Amino acid sequence: FPLLEIKDLTHAYADGHVAIKDVNLSVADGELVSIVGPSGCGKSTLLRCIAGLIRPTQGHVILDGKPTEGIPDNLAVVFQDYSRSLFPWLTVRDNVALPLKRRGMSRAERREAAMEALEAVGLAAAAGKFPWQLSGGMQQRVSIARALAYRPSLLLMDEPFGSVDAQTREDLEDLTLRVRGSDGMTILLVTHDIDESVYVGDRVVVLGSSPGHIKADLRIDLPAP
Ligand code: ADP
Ligand code: ADP
Repeated sequence: FPLLEIKDLTHAYADGHVAIKDVNLSVADGELVSIVGPSGCGKSTLLRCIAGLIRPTQGHVILDGKPTEGIPDNLAVVFQDYSRSLFPWLTVRDNVALPLKRRGMSRAERREAAMEALEAVGLAAAAGKFPWQLSGGMQQRVSIARALAYRPSLLLMDEPFGSVDAQTREDLEDLTLRVRGSDGMTILLVTHDIDESVYVGDRVVVLGSSPGHIKADLRIDLPAP
């Protein structure tokens, strides 16, 4: 069965605004699906429903064959807003290591996994620093390292590279492709950048607005080398 199945998902906010309506989506294990669409079409709402941060008005999110209830523990999220996502009183290494408590890992194991993930994003040298001592792009790489260290079966990324410079963005796109290849992680990537959606994704899902719905679902085929 698919790793993630979204069935007839509808979400109306408290003010009655219907952000997404009757969304159906099936994502296979190991797939990397880009989600694109105009501002306000419901991309973030869809991710929040999957992450259990908001409760859909109707429909179901089925992860690993089970309907989700609250925040699934085999899932990690990278948000665009890095400035609110790291704890300022913890070092970079401890920020990355913290969620691993949920995995039941020892302190030494958590630190080792954190260092490995920081190395993957090129920030091993910043492990002992505090988030506020780093640039925005570096803080965002720390958020990505934290998600990678956790090794979730599903990684949700909401405009994760929107606030970094062009070179870092390309590096992080390549890193995303590498972790997907090596760890078999399943990834949903929300992006405004069509080039990025096609370069990184195996599939590009296009959302339309008012209310948000799936307009197109395209498989990206690479030419044979
Ligand atoms: P996107 O991520 O594609 O920009 P969002 O999911 O953030 O879209 O928003 C979808 C629609 O829902 C928009 O019209 C937005 O204004 C509305 N919306 C988002 N959050 C809320 C909220 N907390 N309360 C009411 N409406 C919201
Ligand atoms: P994005 O497009 O990245 O999803 P937005 O700029 O649409 O972000 O929204 C930023 C924040 O404002 C989100 O937390 C969203 O839930 C909230 N928001 C957006 N539209 C509304 C709205 N109409 N009413 C209340 N909150 C909203």
